[in-house]
Amino acid sequence: MVKMRLQCDMEISNRALPSHNLKSSGRCSRGYLSIGQNPGSTNKQRTVYIMLCTAKDKTGTKYVVKDNVEKVFCNFISEGKTTIRFKEPQVDLHISKADSIQLKSFLTVLKASLKGECPQQKSNLSTLSAITPKQIENSKKKLTILKRQDYPILKGFPFSLVSLKIIGCHIKKLDSRIPSLKYLQHLDLADNVLQELPEAFSRILLTDLILKGNQFSNFPQILLEPPLCDNLTVLDLSSNQLQRLPSHIDNLRKLQILKVSRNQLKQLPINIGNLSSLKNLDISNNQLPLLPANFIKLCLHELDLSHNSFSTTPHRILRQCLELPSLQSICVKFIINNKIPYCETMYRDLHELIRSHKRCWCGKVVVAKFIHCIYHASISFMVASLLSTSEKTFPLEAYFCSQKCFDRFTQKQFQSPLVT
Ligand SMILES: [Zn+2]
Repeated sequence: MVKMRLQCDMEISNRALPSHNLKSSGRCSRGYLSIGQNPGSTNKQRTVYIMLCTAKDKTGTKYVVKDNVEKVFCNFISEGKTTIRFKEPQVDLHISKADSIQLKSFLTVLKASLKGECPQQKSNLSTLSAITPKQIENSKKKLTILKRQDYPILKGFPFSLVSLKIIGCHIKKLDSRIPSLKYLQHLDLADNVLQELPEAFSRILLTDLILKGNQFSNFPQILLEPPLCDNLTVLDLSSNQLQRLPSHIDNLRKLQILKVSRNQLKQLPINIGNLSSLKNLDISNNQLPLLPANFIKLCLHELDLSHNSFSTTPHRILRQCLELPSLQSICVKFIINNKIPYCETMYRDLHELIRSHKRCWCGKVVVAKFIHCIYHASISFMVASLLSTSEKTFPLEAYFCSQKCFDRFTQKQFQSPLVT
């Protein structure tokens, strides 16, 4: 017997509605799509139906298959999408977010049933049955757990979850079943006692991750691994015990909102300005004395820098160095300045060194001879809304490769905001 049941998002649009100047509701619901025979049908009256079952319509809505499917739109099967056009009633069934392999086999069975000349296949089709409460539970998209006793220890999580919130449940370790939730996009684990995340975490294609109010004393490096780092747009790590952010935080290419307030940050990574998608940054209530010069490359909608320990020492040159360079820094300089390609995964340490190496405003690596200085600058030009702070200027820490670069920077690139 072929049991053909497909979990997917479904939307029915009525083709007759526009001719009556009406629009379809456009509502899409998660549920099960089955193909099979009517229960109780004898061999002679074997009619094949497609049946749609959702949480609201548990018994299901049936559509006759034979001589009733006008067209199947197959262009996007590999993306888990298709549309089946019925003649009577005049509706289009839009299917999305299905497993592409299951969808392919579903359409193969549909095709065989449509031909009607495939008795063997037809006789093998199981009879249609309504979905069970467990299956409805499994098609849930959102789940919020606010109490420890509501945690699904035995029954597990519905595998169709898109949004999962487990808040204030005293969780010490991430449930190993969570990384297997392949549709999960929003994960809120606020106010627990997590200290680290497992390796499998990078598998989840999250867009939003809330980890505020936990006990991370180190930034969870796994967030910077692909494919997770290529998807994350919101990261909230406020109210933890972070002392530093990683130098390769700019792996989070799509990050738009970063919240790290109420930590113990004493410095920011020198390349934080490379977070080119960032729009909203909250670093309030930390212990920052300075901002890296690269910070002003950001272009933000909202920025909160309040309650830090910004240095009030006026603009000054800290060091004008002329020192013997290390072999490592000569190597880094050579690779960067000559744009020598290398394999990032093979030479991880080197890659890390190259990324975190101090650079001049002009882009050159700062080695051996450099000027290290602090200047106070207004940052109002890079942010639309600077939240809750009375400070007008902030101390930036910069390195310059030469006196020429320093002069050019202070005179031309940064005319008005510089306070001397
Ligand atoms: Zn320079």
